[in-house]
Amino acid sequence: MCKPAGSVASPQQFSRSISQRIQSFDETVFSTFTKLSLEHKAINLGQGFPDFDPPSFALDALRDAVTGPHQYSPVPGEVALNNQLASMYGGFLDRQLDPIKNIQVTVGATEALFAITQALVDPGDEVIIIEPFYDAYPADVIMAGGIPIYVPLHSTTDGEWHLDLTLLRKACNDRTRLLFLNSPHNPTGKMFSGDDIDAIIDLANHYDFNIVTDHVYEHIAYKPHINVASRPGAWERTVSISSLGKTFSVTGWKIGWAIGPEWIIQALRIAHQWIPFTVATPLQIAASEMLRYATKHNYFSELRSFYLAKRNRFIKGLQKTAIKPIVPDGSYFVMANISELKYGNSLRVCQEMPAHVGVGAIPASAFYCKEHSQFGDAFIRFAFCKNDTILDKAVLQLNSFLV
Ligand code: PMP
Ligand code: GLN
Repeated sequence: MCKPAGSVASPQQFSRSISQRIQSFDETVFSTFTKLSLEHKAINLGQGFPDFDPPSFALDALRDAVTGPHQYSPVPGEVALNNQLASMYGGFLDRQLDPIKNIQVTVGATEALFAITQALVDPGDEVIIIEPFYDAYPADVIMAGGIPIYVPLHSTTDGEWHLDLTLLRKACNDRTRLLFLNSPHNPTGKMFSGDDIDAIIDLANHYDFNIVTDHVYEHIAYKPHINVASRPGAWERTVSISSLGKTFSVTGWKIGWAIGPEWIIQALRIAHQWIPFTVATPLQIAASEMLRYATKHNYFSELRSFYLAKRNRFIKGLQKTAIKPIVPDGSYFVMANISELKYGNSLRVCQEMPAHVGVGAIPASAFYCKEHSQFGDAFIRFAFCKNDTILDKAVLQLNSFLV
């Protein structure tokens, strides 16, 4: 079995009381490289969190939520938030949604991903993970006793990330239980095409597995976003996960949700009730107001334009350096090729950059399993959810980082 690239797997260094499933994990790459940036007072373009405030209507909603309620919310979520999500996603998915039967509020997308894996995966089940991956997926699968099966995306010379459907078909079989599909994709910024998505849905129907879609960057999309669950043949086997963090620049709030057919949401809820039980009530109240306001006042399209301008600015700057970016279709990440630099592979480059250039990034090798980590050796990931002056400064400093 492929282990995530970040794992230490040296059981001797742990006490005998630590479970085997935890022994295979190390600290996340985001914590490691954020610490390195802090240590060198570098501009942290590694971990993806905005360095600017949330919109003022979000702060107003948070302030108003101080009047309560302050006690446990119902297990499915605070009624106002479930209702708001049912109305919004009913529109996105072109389907009547029941606020309770079809929706579960979670502690960020992170908890939704963990809970759905606990709910659907038995020990020995196989789960397809597209590489490079968001690092929670392999961990969730391993913690459920499942077996991650990795299918790599390849970067092409025309600056695209390509899903090889032949490889994907080979990876599926009767033991396949789940497939994680993240679009817009972290770390590449790829948005999967309708054809790719339909091919995945056909495979899911053929082999009878479920699709977990991670759409946390759905509103940071520079071309039309496709909700997988809205495609023909997808709804009954798809759970759609998203969260508030990226859309409203509130990554610290950890409010997320899962949407799907009643049987999947019921199963996820059973797991959820033993994980956090319920989610912070005042934040859910604020979230429902933020989503209502955002829908009414065209906020989502403003957000798209805001990030599109940042993407273009940062890419234009990077193109003048020895680091060659692949233009992302969505998300606030950009992968850049570092083959021309003298420092070697992506891990070495990211270890050296904070000290030498004052800029932090994430080595793409961390988004591949150990056996495939060489696929990530030529790329580093930047997060451009930062103020323009900071992005410009980072580009200037990177410019000094020539062969
Ligand atoms: N999925 C992806 C692809 C992510 O990049 C992140 C990063 N935060 C998450 C899930 C986790 O989302 P949340 O903060 O809402 O738990
Ligand atoms: N999603 C963020 C990223 O990819 C980080 C989240 C985390 O630190 N776990 O940078």
